Amino acid sequence: MNCYKCETEMVLGIATAQTYVGGMPDFEGEAHSSTFSAGGTGKVISCHKCPSCGHSVTQTLNDMLTDAVEAYKNMTPEEKDAMIKEQKESYVRAEFGLKD
Ligand SMILES: [Zn+2]
Repeated sequence: MNCYKCETEMVLGIATAQTYVGGMPDFEGEAHSSTFSAGGTGKVISCHKCPSCGHSVTQTLNDMLTDAVEAYKNMTPEEKDAMIKEQKESYVRAEFGLKD
């Protein structure tokens, strides 16, 4: 799969799609909730990322499963460790609202 912007071969990655939880009313007596904050567990989705321009494409579930299994099989133990570490870090950044 190539990047449709720059034709670079894309690499498989995992993205965290943030989920949101409904907020509490901002002020006492307000009936509606206007504050929504990032929360919940988030949703991990597979994506192709362009290493050149950074463009990313999310996949269908079927693509995701096929590619994820293939990519994982082809990884060295070091690459698997690095991927897991990176995913943990990005999860923590998302969870605590930290910048990259
Ligand atoms: Zn690209």
